[in-house]
Amino acid sequence: MDIVQRISCIFGRHHRSRHSVWHDGTAFRSVCKGCRVPMVRDFHGWHVLGEEERPATKPGS
Ligand SMILES: [Zn+2]
Repeated sequence: MDIVQRISCIFGRHHRSRHSVWHDGTAFRSVCKGCRVPMVRDFHGWHVLGEEERPATKPGS
């Protein structure tokens, strides 16, 4: 876990881990290096997968 990134995560600024990138045949996918949330890269860049329907999670859970 990246503590500095985790602080950014609290403010909704996630950043993909370049060590965790893979290609599923359609798009590049990764996880946030702070909170491990799934991310996907599209035409506009990296964004959190399904962020709008994701329920809030408790810290440390
Ligand atoms: Zn994050």
